[in-house]
Amino acid sequence: MSGNAAIAGSIKLIGSAFIAAIKMLVVPLVFVSLVCGMTSIAEIGRMGRIGVKTLAFYLGTTAFAIAIGLALGIVFEPGAGVALVADATAETKQPPHFGELLVGIIPTNPVSAATDGNVLQIIFFAIVFGLAINLAGEVARPIRSFFDALNAVIMKLAEIVVSFAPYGVFALMTWVAGTYGFDLLLPLGLIILAVYVGSLIHAVVVYGGLITFVARLNPTRFFQGVVEPAIVAFTSTSSAGTLPVTMAAATRNLGVKNTVASFTLPLGATINMDGTALYQGVTAVFVAQAFGVTLSGADYLTIVSAATLASIGTAGVPGGGLIMLSMVLTSVGLPLEGVAIIAGIDRILDMARTTLNVVGDCACTVLVAKSEGEIDLDAFNTPHVLAAPKFESS
Ligand code: ASP
Repeated sequence: MSGNAAIAGSIKLIGSAFIAAIKMLVVPLVFVSLVCGMTSIAEIGRMGRIGVKTLAFYLGTTAFAIAIGLALGIVFEPGAGVALVADATAETKQPPHFGELLVGIIPTNPVSAATDGNVLQIIFFAIVFGLAINLAGEVARPIRSFFDALNAVIMKLAEIVVSFAPYGVFALMTWVAGTYGFDLLLPLGLIILAVYVGSLIHAVVVYGGLITFVARLNPTRFFQGVVEPAIVAFTSTSSAGTLPVTMAAATRNLGVKNTVASFTLPLGATINMDGTALYQGVTAVFVAQAFGVTLSGADYLTIVSAATLASIGTAGVPGGGLIMLSMVLTSVGLPLEGVAIIAGIDRILDMARTTLNVVGDCACTVLVAKSEGEIDLDAFNTPHVLAAPKFESS
């Protein structure tokens, strides 16, 4: 081992501690955030038509986003020629039969699913557990509040772990550069390119297409109207933090009535993360290529469902998607060292994915508002110039 590699190896310890802390969060985060997601989705169901339309749009576009991410990962091949070896001995898995895969996600023992870190089984249990809480009704209210509180605690824990990212990322990048030299620069550049190109395609083709052909509105007006929240999302990398700007843009620039915007936008900032899903698709393919893992058709399907659920569970805060990436990788047995490599460029990726997340919330809001007749078409069709926000004087 050369001197450089030895130093890189010891610095890696700090990075490994960071990755261990991320792994520590996966099981509680996935379980608790999904239970909470399910209990809030039940309320949405009660909101009737608007709720169903919103959910259909959010989930449908997310699945599309992952497909675009996977396709770009395959086309750009960012991991080709990168020969990484996982620390832990990667289990060689026989591709499961589709039927077995379905039966296999039912945990015979939920506790061992948690201790084994079997993410798909945990997801399954969280979904049925959340549904059962809703069905149990009033008597289960304390359990619901308990999970809401637990979710807040785990989100705080995630925030604490993410606040160590600069040190962890520095250590990991030092290790990556010391061990692999410049060989990884091109692949990382390709990942960035794939995520940005994918986000652009998704925005123009999927949102632009839906606005033009389904809502029958002018897509140029739509994209002009979302410039402000898009800029704030790009720079803040937080869709939750951007929410006030998104609400203002939707109601003022796009003419959406508050009855729709006040429901679809906060919900979107919580569960609709197309950019995050797209990024998870690209990075999952990269990690598989880099570690020489061949993904089967069933694996791709698993990634689509895991990333859809992951994007629902992702908090709209900087770096939220990076933590959930570990869940997506685990769902198909990909090594979590992949997260370490992505972590180094995550901020740049976060800028694109948060922007897409926020634009997607606006697109859905316009679509739902148009179909409900809750949109002021004159306001929508009036061209908007970027203006400083106006504050009402009290
Ligand atoms: N930063 C993203 C958001 O707030 C979440 C993510 O990290 O993917 O929308």
